[in-house]
Amino acid sequence: MPDLLPFWENVLVELATKIPKGKVMTWFMNSSLKEVNDTTATIITSRIFYEEFIKNHSKHILDILRKTYPAIQKIEVEVDGSLEGDNSHMSVDMKKLFAENSSNSSSSEKTTNVRKLPKQSSVRIKKGNETFISKMLDSNYTLRNFVIGEESQLAHAASQAVANKPGGAYNPLFIYGSVGLGKTHLLQATANEILRKYPNKLVVYLTTENFIAEVVDAIQKRKMEQVRKKYRQVDVFILDDIQFLAGKDRTQEIFFHLFNDLYNGKKQMIFSSDRPPMELELTEDRVKSRFSMGMIADVQFPDFETRLAISQVKASEAGVMLEEDVLNFIAYNTQHSIRELQGVILQLKAMIELTGTTPTTEKIADMLRKLNKGVDIKNNIMGVGIQSVKKISTMQELVEAVSEHYHTETDEVLGKKRSRMYMIPRQVSMYLMQKHFNASLQAIGDLFSGRDHTSVLHATKKIKKQIKEDPEFWKEIKVLEEGFEF
Ligand code: ADP
Ligand code: MG
Repeated sequence: MPDLLPFWENVLVELATKIPKGKVMTWFMNSSLKEVNDTTATIITSRIFYEEFIKNHSKHILDILRKTYPAIQKIEVEVDGSLEGDNSHMSVDMKKLFAENSSNSSSSEKTTNVRKLPKQSSVRIKKGNETFISKMLDSNYTLRNFVIGEESQLAHAASQAVANKPGGAYNPLFIYGSVGLGKTHLLQATANEILRKYPNKLVVYLTTENFIAEVVDAIQKRKMEQVRKKYRQVDVFILDDIQFLAGKDRTQEIFFHLFNDLYNGKKQMIFSSDRPPMELELTEDRVKSRFSMGMIADVQFPDFETRLAISQVKASEAGVMLEEDVLNFIAYNTQHSIRELQGVILQLKAMIELTGTTPTTEKIADMLRKLNKGVDIKNNIMGVGIQSVKKISTMQELVEAVSEHYHTETDEVLGKKRSRMYMIPRQVSMYLMQKHFNASLQAIGDLFSGRDHTSVLHATKKIKKQIKEDPEFWKEIKVLEEGFEF
């Protein structure tokens, strides 16, 4: 049996001669051929709503498969969400597959070409007698499209500083944080930026696994010293996910010497890891302490507001228009990583393209659950379908409605008492008046027993701050506002 992944790539390329290429690219994204037994071929895909499309086109797929497996009678489709994200290397890289085939015209030519495709998305860089193999940089990762939140501000600023002046003050730059929080994005963005500014610099970006593989190979060929000599020539050395050096003693040894060479030569080094340097499992403490010679910055899970900004950026990058509520919902319910957030947006995009409708929050909650097994998704945060909408024409009507919502008397809310049960609806009313009636601070103050404009300002600021910082409160205000029609 041929290796199924390249074989499957051939199938898709041929399929793209029968149905539009764009459709193949969308609907077979993250798909692969799981197995072929006597009469059945099993295709796996990461998304439930692709299943149907694949089934509907199984006749074409069967025709193609039968050229290699004449006995095949039927196609089965399985859905496996884990094909998304980290495991995506197990499935077809559509962009690459079709970009590299676009210049060919006949399908048989394409088929032969695909077999030759390199599996690794890497680039070869020649310098003198040496060939460096760097992982291909993703040009979609830039420092500009990285959304800066408090949690990542330092890491971003340090990356920018390194990009401006590689080998300068921040050497090495060490970025750590848990999975899906933008480390790889920052590393690649920095590499992209350096190359933009200094096209002649030799920038090598490797995953730690790539590096280990090269060292192991060199050990077998007794060429350890050569590896060190070779890498000494790079201007910028970037190693992603350095925690994988754990237990790799020989690689650590080379790494240590290389580190010193590069450091002394004022060559920029950038590392990422899932933990701070001191927690790395390295045999020698001197390796860890080397990391502290430059700049250490962490990335953490962003707050709600930053997540919302990220979802906006990701949606617009994906070219999909999503309602503010939907974006809010996604940002609110993303609980671990930005990769998860991005996954949902891409799924929504596909869903909108396929069905022509924007999915309900229920549907999105469903997706989030699938991506994120066992997580409690707040299905109804928008209060979808629970309340009727109340028409609000005047500020007076607004205070009444807000008071009713909080089960208090309007007179007290408008009055002077400072107990919490009146303060909250009072401040919320002021906030909503300013937002929806564009009322002046003084006009609002007048309505509330002739208060000073500064106390109205204070109240509205307080509410804005709380909405930003407390998702529960944001949700509450959201539900309230959705019940009103201004
Ligand atoms: P890590 O390497 O930390 O596991 P990645 O860099 O692969 O995470 O990030 C996962 C995804 O989330 C990427 O697509 C990245 O673009 C996106 N991402 C993470 N943080 C941000 C951010 N602050 N702004 C924009 N995109 C982000
Ligand atoms: Mg990463």
